[in-house]
Formats: sequence, C-alpha cells, structure tokens
Amino acid sequence: MKTIGMLGGMSWESTAHYYQLLNKGINEALGGLSSASIILNSVNFQDIELLQRTGNWSDTGLILGQAATAVEKAGADFIIICTNTMHKVVNEISHFTSLPILHIADATAEALCCANIKQVGLLGTAFTMEQAFYKTRIREKFSIEVTVPCEEDRAFVHKVIYQELCRGIISNESKIRFLDIINELYSQGCEGVILGCTEISLLVRQEDTDVSLYDTTAIHADAAVRLALSR
Ligand code: GLU
Repeated sequence: MKTIGMLGGMSWESTAHYYQLLNKGINEALGGLSSASIILNSVNFQDIELLQRTGNWSDTGLILGQAATAVEKAGADFIIICTNTMHKVVNEISHFTSLPILHIADATAEALCCANIKQVGLLGTAFTMEQAFYKTRIREKFSIEVTVPCEEDRAFVHKVIYQELCRGIISNESKIRFLDIINELYSQGCEGVILGCTEISLLVRQEDTDVSLYDTTAIHADAAVRLALSR
C-alpha cells in the first residue's frame, strides 16, 4: 500500500473527516484491522486565512510547498491537498516536491464525466467560485460547463464556510439557505452541484436533496484510496 501525504488543517474540521474517510476506505478494501498509511502535515489555518484575505497567495504557496517537502521526506508516495481553495497554488506547491499531487478538481470532474454531467453548479469559497483556477480547469480539461450562484448567494456561502463550518458550527438556518441555493442552480439547468469546499458536506448531505451532489471531500478521499491501493 502506498503512503498518502496529506496537506491538511484547512480547516482541521474537514481534515478530520478526510482522515476518517481514508481509513474507512482502506479498511473496506483490505478488511481486518487494515488502515491507511498516512503522513499528515496539518498547517495553522489562521496563517493561511490571513494570507488569503490579504491576497498574499505566494506566501501560502511557500508554506504549503514546505509542508509538501516535509511529507515527501517523511516517506509519502503521493500528496493530497485537503482543500479546494488552496489548489489555486498547486503549481507553486509542486515546485517543492517530486511527488505526484492528486488534484481535487480532476478527481471531481472524473466523477462528473462518469455520470455524464455536462453542466454543473459549484459551491465553494469566493476564491473557488469566482476565480479561474478551478472552474477553467473543469471546463477546459473535461468540457463541463460550471455555473456559480449569484453574487449575494456566493457571499453567503463564503461567509458560512469561514464563520461557521471552519469553526465547527453547524446551523440549520444556513443549511436551509444552502439547499435553496442548490435548488436555484438546478433550476438554471445544472444536472448536479459540486460541494467544492471540503467543509460543505459537514452541513449538507445527499439525503437532504434530490439534486445530485458531488462532495469533493468524499470523491478526493476515494481517489486517494484507489491510488494508494494501485500497483
Ligand atoms: N476547505 C475549504 C476548501 O475546500 C476552505 C478553506 C480554505 O480556504 O482552504 O476550499
């Protein structure tokens, strides 16, 4: 089994969920007392969030690049960056390591292709919903049209991620509004919605809606399990 290098802590609420999913996935495949071989480098999210907010992405790349070097030195075979947003600096991070990085948007888009989805809604941080690095990759590499909520809804989703979900706060009011936003994307022609922030599945689950949800945490963890078990 390959050793998974996790760049986590963004936030630790979702990293804890990743850790469970990776171990469950390996245990389901191998049985007995099997669990995942993992090196986790969990950064201080306060530092990352401040750099995001002030637009200092190059320093986030430096911090995560150094974390990638550390997991490589510690024996990881490949890396997963346990956040959608920080894939903005995946190229910078890749300069610090010779290990392959399993890209969260690629894993998600592959799941969308399997389901034959041609137009998808995207929920995530404002960075993920508004900037090109995530949407363009899915559009250009996988020919899937990506639709984001209106400005007011994007601001709401962004606020809930940082003010609630990354702090472990789960509010029913926010959940109801997220479900309304998901329905709105569906009524605009989206055949499914990407939960493109690794904390959103802590709030909204597939059983809450008839709209098909693509939970990036579960999809990314599942892809990592398959890669860890591959020869
Ligand atoms: N975990 C989130 C994501 O998937 C947001 C936290 C971050 O900014 O990294 O985008």
